Amino acid sequence: MQRRDDGPSRQAPSGPRHNRAGQRTSSAHGPSLNAMPASPVDPRTSKSDPIGPLLRVRGLVKRFGDHDVLRGIDLDVMPGDRIAILGASGSGKSTFLRCLNFMELPDAGTVELDGRIVGREVRVRNEPARRVHDEAELTRVRQRVGMVFQQFNLFPHMTALGNVMEGLRTVRGQRAAEARARAERELARVGLADKADAYPARLSGGQKQRVAIARALAMDPEVLLFDEPTSALDPELVGEVLRVIRSLAEEGCTMLLVTHELGFAYHVASRVLFIAEGTIHEQGTPDQILRHPQRPRTQAFLERHREFDF
Ligand code: ADP
Ligand code: MG
Repeated sequence: MQRRDDGPSRQAPSGPRHNRAGQRTSSAHGPSLNAMPASPVDPRTSKSDPIGPLLRVRGLVKRFGDHDVLRGIDLDVMPGDRIAILGASGSGKSTFLRCLNFMELPDAGTVELDGRIVGREVRVRNEPARRVHDEAELTRVRQRVGMVFQQFNLFPHMTALGNVMEGLRTVRGQRAAEARARAERELARVGLADKADAYPARLSGGQKQRVAIARALAMDPEVLLFDEPTSALDPELVGEVLRVIRSLAEEGCTMLLVTHELGFAYHVASRVLFIAEGTIHEQGTPDQILRHPQRPRTQAFLERHREFDF
């Protein structure tokens, strides 16, 4: 299997980047949102890639005490996939995303990122093999698999610009001028060039979430995880955040998105998963899952979320 070079060039945030299909991506010098075309993302076209999945999840298990939250999840995420994840509250959606960027360590199973399994297998005689992870590796994984949270998680004592610069400075070790220039570009990309010097307390929820997205983008993630990115927002602020996510989808960004915005999922996702009882209970195209669910549990969930329009 062919692999991308894992050298320092992957980390370099300057200059145009290319995705695995060889197409130029525009995250480093992306157009501002205002310049984004309004055309819908075709839900049927997910880039297929002969090289292999960007993320390959096998048998992922996570338990808290005696509560088996994830009971064996298998998933391949191809470059350019836009995967919407649905499920009842408490079904393990956040836990699943957190396991993908190793904010939670799986109890069993593997996560392979671009052909390499994260962690090192350790075998002790008579015990099942387990994986151990060193912090340096996990720091790299968390840069490559970016996360956007429901509650934004911005540093309140830093400006918007400071929040976006922080990872570039502390994790990437960039000099202030370089980090500042990159952070300014990312804020412009989410339509917040004029809010660079504002502290979170002075920003609306929608603006805070866009800063959080800019912060994630600044690290050049290969995959972006969105955990209910609009659930904490007043209804009138949801649209500005969804427009940013949609523009990223149109740029070919690979993403997993936990959301209750079913109309958005219908139009933007290439695939929809419904999680129940710790497994992927049903999956398919947006049309298959959202309009023609086959399994009673999926049907019942969608019955309860009828208030969407698509
Ligand atoms: P969802 O995002 O689908 O609402 P979560 O992944 O947040 O669900 O949670 C799944 C289950 O795991 C819930 O029962 C929750 O209470 C439990 N859980 C999540 N995180 C922890 C934790 N750190 N410690 C103990 N239980 C947890
Ligand atoms: Mg959650």
